[in-house]
Amino acid sequence: MDAAQPQQSPGDPAPGVAGTADLSKATTEEAAPLPEAVAPAEPYRAEQPSPFATTSPVDGSPLSPVEATPLAAVPEIVARARSAQKTWGELPVRDRVDAVAKVKKRILARAEEIADVLHKECGKPIEEAALAEVLPNADLVDYWTETIEELLEGVTVEPDPLAYPGKLGRIYKDPRGVIALITPWNYPVAIPLRTIVPALLAGNTIVFKPSEVSPRAGALVASLFKDAVPEGVLELVQGAGDAAQAILDAGVDAVVFTGSVATGRRVAVACAERLIPCSMELGGKDAAIVLADCRLERTARGLVWGAFTNAGQNCASIERVYVERPIAEKLVARVVELTKELRPGVDTAVITTQRQAAIVRRHLAEAVARGAQVLAGGEPEAGSLAFPPTVVKVTDEDCALLKEETFGPLLPIVVVDTADEAIARANASRFGLTTSVWTRKIRRGRDVARRLRSGVVTINNHGFTAALAAAPWTGTGDSGYGITNSPHALSELTRPRFVLEDTSGAKRELWWYPYTPALRAVAFTMARARGGAGFLGRIGAFFKLLAVLPRRLFGA
Ligand code: NAD
Repeated sequence: MDAAQPQQSPGDPAPGVAGTADLSKATTEEAAPLPEAVAPAEPYRAEQPSPFATTSPVDGSPLSPVEATPLAAVPEIVARARSAQKTWGELPVRDRVDAVAKVKKRILARAEEIADVLHKECGKPIEEAALAEVLPNADLVDYWTETIEELLEGVTVEPDPLAYPGKLGRIYKDPRGVIALITPWNYPVAIPLRTIVPALLAGNTIVFKPSEVSPRAGALVASLFKDAVPEGVLELVQGAGDAAQAILDAGVDAVVFTGSVATGRRVAVACAERLIPCSMELGGKDAAIVLADCRLERTARGLVWGAFTNAGQNCASIERVYVERPIAEKLVARVVELTKELRPGVDTAVITTQRQAAIVRRHLAEAVARGAQVLAGGEPEAGSLAFPPTVVKVTDEDCALLKEETFGPLLPIVVVDTADEAIARANASRFGLTTSVWTRKIRRGRDVARRLRSGVVTINNHGFTAALAAAPWTGTGDSGYGITNSPHALSELTRPRFVLEDTSGAKRELWWYPYTPALRAVAFTMARARGGAGFLGRIGAFFKLLAVLPRRLFGA
């Protein structure tokens, strides 16, 4: 559809006017190749002169213009980031902390502006924008600025002095260098910041390519660092997939990607060809397992929020509920009641793009054709992006709604007979981002958690832990292998450098030339000393080594 001509749907009450330029690639599994058929990394070619939306998904009002970065300028931008990295990476960590810490105040002081951009450009309710993309980001800056010095400290390695006399090692965490950061549109402030803050503190520089669906939020993120960090430390490239490809082509040292499985595969292949590491935070199909002993009111409210926040455009949205039969009827009734209270496009976000809305419609229509019962909500009028939060009771699970990422406000509920059945069904997905278990008995919840194939499990809550900077955010299977937040994220953003110092002064090492029968005997004596013989044999071997090793190391 034409970005310049929003289609006002007749009779459709605002908000929820169609009109977002829908030039992004498919965001969910629509375009995903089968796992066994990995597509080669084809360069993405934008067909449009500008890939950006010009009107708000909320009401079709015009959005401020955005200029795409000319592809020809990208190599110079990456070179700038590389040149800046040399100085930035060598600064004392404290200096980097002082620079990045300024961003916390800026996030909080610009809270309303951030929420406004997210509302207009992505269609989020202001409350949601402030709660999900302002406050946790300020906490994030605190967490990393308070912990990074300790986390980057070297670790000493002391090898066994008998086998490796006079040796001491130290593991340092070096910055990777220049990191390409490619991000999606659904949390376009929070997601980039979760990488930018620790990556910069660790001494990297970043070339940041926000989604073409949320370029204004991307520009806002970059502006938070303006004059706080030196030029080149955080570079912004605006554009679509071809701009991201141009960044990779220009030569970066690592890629942090968050987005769909289909694009993630392409980026992973491109990184494999360049032998650079990549972090992959991909899609989800989160399940919620509701046990019969759950707290009904809390569970119902938790499911409704978990499914409908950001209109379900959340990688950790609840997209499947497996509820034990004894509680099913009451739970479904309460979920339906609470869902009906929500005003589409007011309490819930609007769908950000028409392309996304089409996927949601398709999943719903297919499930209904297979006998699913719509208990609340349902399809909006043609063209409307204010998709009503929709609760669906499903019996035939062989449908996209239960298998593929919907990324929309649909909550399918399946009744099961036992917790075992719920676990088996939850684990049957090719995704494994987060799963929740709802029960009064925490110990039972923990038992279920241990059996789930999921990067994050929450007991009596869902999905919000991405906001906890100290907790790893990660998935299994097609949800990718990236890790955001927590000290574990540093494995993506730094690489270990091991430095060994040898002060033994020995003339030679045990394993150096010449190879002699005596050396062979020493090697087998060492095997006995280390456990290849019984207790007495080991003691004997040990004393023998004390006698022969000095001769081997220091003798002629
Ligand atoms: P997307 O894959 O369409 O786009 C993501 C980014 O990749 C965008 O910046 C886009 O311009 C870029 N891109 C497109 N083609 C490319 C190419 N050929 N090479 C390099 N980059 C390219 O995803 P989206 O629609 O923006 O985001 C929605 C998806 O992101 C959903 O699947 C959602 O579950 C996932 N997501 C995951 C997490 C997580 O933490 N696991 C968080 C948020 C969103």
